[in-house]
Amino acid sequence: MRVLVVGGAGYIGSHTALTLADAGHEPVVYDNLTMGHEWAVQWGEFVQGDLSDGDLLRKVLREHQIEAVIHFAAFAYVGESVQNPRKYFENNVVSTLSLLHAMLDSDVRQIIFSSTCASYGIPEQVPINESHPQNPINPYGDSKLMVERILHWYGEAYDLKWIALRYFNAAGADPQGRIGESHDPETHLIPLVIDAALERRGPVQIFGTDYATQDGTAVRDYIHVLDLADAHVRALEYLAGGGESQPINLGTGRGYSVREVLESVGRMSGRPVPFEEGPRREGDPPELVADPSRAAAVLGWRALYQELDDIVGTAWEWHSKS
Ligand code: UDP
Repeated sequence: MRVLVVGGAGYIGSHTALTLADAGHEPVVYDNLTMGHEWAVQWGEFVQGDLSDGDLLRKVLREHQIEAVIHFAAFAYVGESVQNPRKYFENNVVSTLSLLHAMLDSDVRQIIFSSTCASYGIPEQVPINESHPQNPINPYGDSKLMVERILHWYGEAYDLKWIALRYFNAAGADPQGRIGESHDPETHLIPLVIDAALERRGPVQIFGTDYATQDGTAVRDYIHVLDLADAHVRALEYLAGGGESQPINLGTGRGYSVREVLESVGRMSGRPVPFEEGPRREGDPPELVADPSRAAAVLGWRALYQELDDIVGTAWEWHSKS
């Protein structure tokens, strides 16, 4: 299929372009490069453009005879979204409407949307399945939930077919070292711990040691970026085969604590990672772990990277060379 990968120069988007090309599809990458990197566009043609530019999107959809869209373009810093919600609703919601309207105008009716476990808010129970109530506790999670609701209603009214993939914690890099995670500023745990281990920055801060978890630190479900990418390709093929629109969680189903991440990176570097214990970060739930059984049942998908060391290992390789 000819697939427009919106936000395809970013972390998860670029790994998905790679996986699409490997699976025999034709990605066309559309990105404004505010967060993405031109070096990460290595599979498919590149069009530089903004998500809000409906005219350009219509032109690209038509000229490239696009059959489906995968939409990654969004701001994704939880803390920033609390400080500056306008930026999040403007880009993640309003600009997404430009994309959806360009698609409807061009008769492109299949979309895979990057959603998030942040749309669940503080979980009532873990593991979290797709029926868990969605009560986001920050504007980022709410912006993603709003788009899920828009997809639902556009699906009902305009026959738009959609899958909202609710990611847990994306991590790792292409094991061949061609692309990897690169954010500025970096706020994610695994790259920060690796940088601390490589002495590129001071000790890593552990945000909270008094959670009711096995070692007092927060637990997350880390999922390898290539496993995420593979699920996007499967979701696309599922919709193309007449599959039903729905949200689907993407996680391994297994949680690891912040201390376990430090220990894993310590095994890569051969010595303990320097750290400091600090207060909790506002808005962080104690534990987020996916129930990934719908992804298995509907998409035949399962995370191939199950062990934290395997996920962290690919990130370690990438960061230590970059
Ligand atoms: N975390 C931490 N120190 C850091 C960055 C993150 O202790 O410097 C913790 C954070 O509180 C959370 C987990 O690591 O419990 C994963 O955070 P990240 O920002 O990577 O992803 P999030 O879960 O916020 O999407």
